Formats: sequence, C-alpha cells, structure tokens
Amino acid sequence: MALLRSLLLAASRNAWMRRNAVNLPFVRRSVSRFMPGETLEAALRTAEQLRQSRIGTVFTHLGENVTDHGEARKVTEHYLEVLDRIHSQNLPTEVSVKLTQLGLELGPDVCYENLEQILRHERGEAIVWVDMEASNHVDATLGIYRRALEKYPRTGICLQAYLYRTKEDLAGLLPLKPSVRLVKGAYKEPAQIAFSRKADVDRNYFTLAQEMLRAEAEGHCARAAFGTHDVRLIGRIGDFIAQRGWPKNRLEVQMLYGIQRAEQERLAQNGYRSIVLVSYGTYWYPWFVRRLAERPANLWFLLRNVLAN
Ligand SMILES: Cc1cc2nc3c(=O)[nH]c(=O)nc-3n(C[C@H](O)[C@H](O)[C@H](O)COP(=O)(O)OP(=O)(O)OC[C@H]3O[C@@H](n4cnc5c(N)ncnc54)[C@H](O)[C@@H]3O)c2cc1C
Repeated sequence: MALLRSLLLAASRNAWMRRNAVNLPFVRRSVSRFMPGETLEAALRTAEQLRQSRIGTVFTHLGENVTDHGEARKVTEHYLEVLDRIHSQNLPTEVSVKLTQLGLELGPDVCYENLEQILRHERGEAIVWVDMEASNHVDATLGIYRRALEKYPRTGICLQAYLYRTKEDLAGLLPLKPSVRLVKGAYKEPAQIAFSRKADVDRNYFTLAQEMLRAEAEGHCARAAFGTHDVRLIGRIGDFIAQRGWPKNRLEVQMLYGIQRAEQERLAQNGYRSIVLVSYGTYWYPWFVRRLAERPANLWFLLRNVLAN
C-alpha cells in the first residue's frame, strides 16, 4: 500500500501524465465522483443543493504552482468573481486558496498582494482559507498567513498533522487568534520531517485537535475546523467536546465533495457543523491523483470506468 501510494504521488507530479491522462474518457468519468464539474456554475449549483441539507461549502478553483504574473492575477480576479457570485446568491460558502496559485513562487510580495485583494473583497463574516501545500512552501505560507491575519482577522490556515513541526506552528499562531483547518496532509514528505505511520499521524491529529478546541474555548482560536473523513477520529473529537459540556456546533467537520456523503448529512442532521469542500476547474489532474493516493481502493473505481468503456 505504501509503495502504491508513493507511485501515485509521483504520478501526480508527472507532467506527461498530466497532459495526456486528462483526455482519457475513463479518467474524466472517474474524476466526476470528486468534482461536480469543471465550471464555477457547477460548484454554485452544488452549494445550493447542499444548503438544502444544512451543509455549508468551501470553493477551491483547482490549480497550483503558477509561475506567471498574468496567470496569478487571473486566478485572483477569478476569486473576486467567485465572491461576488457567492454574495449575490447569499450562499453559505467560503473560498480556500492555494498560495502557489496566487504567485508564491514569484515572490512573497506578489502573492500577498493577490491574497490581499481577495481578503478585501470578502466583506461578510466568512473566512478566506489558505491551503497548506508541500513542505517546501510551509514557511513562506505561514509567513504570508501571519501578515494577512494581522490586518484581516477572518483569514484561516490549513495545518497538516503529519508534519512534526505543526505542534510548534500551531502554538506560534495562537497568540494571533487564527482560524485553523486541521488536516492529515496530502503530499509525499520524507520521514525526517513527517510521521510516516498512519497511527502516528492519527495520534498527532487528535492531540492537535484537542489543543485547537481548548484554544477556541479560551478565545485564542477564532475557529477550529477539522478537515477529515476519518469517522472514528471525528467521533473521538465529538466525545472530547461532549465531555466538556461544550455545544455540539463546536464540532466543525470539513470533507471533500463526493467522499463520505452519508456522514456529511448525518453530521448536519445531528447539529454539528458540516461543510463540503467543492473543487472545480480544468487543472484537476494532480489533485485527483492525490485523492487516489489517499485511498488506493479508489483505483478499483477507476478500473470500473475503464471496463465501462
Ligand atoms: C476540507 C479538506 C481540506 C483539505 N485541505 C488540504 C490542504 O490544504 N493541504 C493538504 O495537504 N491536505 C488537505 N486535505 C487532504 C488531507 O490532508 C488528507 O489527505 C485527506 O483528507 C485524507 O485524509 P483523512 O483525514 O480523510 O483520513 P484517512 O485516514 O486518509 O481516511 C479516513 C477514511 O476516509 C475515507 N477517505 C479518505 N480519503 C478518501 C478518498 N480520497 N477517497 C475515498 N475515501 C476516502 C476512507 O474511508 C478512509 O478510510 C484536505 C482535506 C479536506 C477534507
């Protein structure tokens, strides 16, 4: 399984595969399980449907590693349009951005200026989330996040439980009252910097989750959100909240579109905060292959679509 995961993560970074695999009909059919469509319209329709089930949404326009100023500006302008559409349709939807898509590799100032435009445009109570990418970007991402948070308190950051450093990163952020979405981590990272055993990642996740919730109760964390599909872990975090007599809606779970749908609905129906991250756009290949790597059993699903050809 570990070997298969490594192969898939390597394939997610392969440019030849990216150019060619996206045109294969069975790959396109398979990606539709995780993505309602390539367009913003498709994402907006999904948000409207999920709202009927009291499920909130977060939008991500797929893309990463932009190295062209014009392209980074185009992505920024796209997010401004997204926020306008969300506001005009009065949707319970936030956005989550990747800093490498906003020009991180062109320099921190370029990236910050683009991010700041998006932050200025979000006038409501909603949070603008910043994704966390591969470990070579963590320092730069945290640097820009801190800078943004000082001026825009409704900025959120994703932290990855598989990194050893995250405990310290979280402690360093709490004096700034951050909003944090905790995930396990989706990239291939070496054992020198990241837990490689799933049990260790899960243990660290639960420890960090408790720290975030305590900080939230003490007013040091503006919002504690848990980006995971791990039902057992969600149950443990829910128990931790219940044991302290905190209200159920302290548990905010964010899942990806198409994964654990029944659990998304169950959480919403039972008074927890259930949010679905909806990805869309044409640059879905690396993101899709990372989803396969998270659960190699998804390859069966890909295979079924080959056979259906
Ligand atoms: C809202 C959200 C935002 C995220 N943002 C980031 C980010 O910014 N940076 C980052 O590095 N990672 C991000 N991730 C991905 C995350 O790091 C994990 O790779 C991913 O969530 C899988 O881990 P898990 O917590 O679901 O637990 P796992 O232990 O991997 O999975 C638990 C169970 O969930 C189900 N499951 C998990 N993944 C899949 C899948 N792909 N297909 C089908 N079933 C699945 C399976 O039943 C599995 O047994 C995000 C995830 C979510 C939900």
